[in-house]
Amino acid sequence: MMFKTHLMFGILLSIFFAKAFAVEHIFLFVLVGAFFAIFPDIDFHKSKIGQKTKPFSWMINFFLGHRGLIHSLLLAFAFFLLFVVLFGETYGAAVLIGYFSHIFLDSFTKKGTRPLWPLTTRLSGILKGNSIIDYFLFFLFLVGVILILI
Ligand SMILES: [Zn+2]
Repeated sequence: MMFKTHLMFGILLSIFFAKAFAVEHIFLFVLVGAFFAIFPDIDFHKSKIGQKTKPFSWMINFFLGHRGLIHSLLLAFAFFLLFVVLFGETYGAAVLIGYFSHIFLDSFTKKGTRPLWPLTTRLSGILKGNSIIDYFLFFLFLVGVILILI
């Protein structure tokens, strides 16, 4: 999936949950959710976030591969716990929303995901990154963000 599709879906879900649970600092909550919606692709040096963090991203890719540990629920929960300890459970929830949104979308791609890493159970679909459906989803999520804000 494209960077912007992940980003927009993360923003949409974060705003939705922030509103549903009347989160006090909605901007911070959405910022954390959006960040973790794009973070997992740091394990691929050609992704947008990977290009911005190059030697680091390359190393992660070399040692852990693309869509391995970094795309797993295990790491999502590790970040969740870290954020709960450091910033409280509200921001821990934002981490999970962002992370889940990323793994969820990637699960519909041909390459799929292994959310239960190190188990090899794979979820995959028929979508391709940068495809017309990817653009369509981006547009759909963008409309969702606009509608939820007005
Ligand atoms: Zn990904």
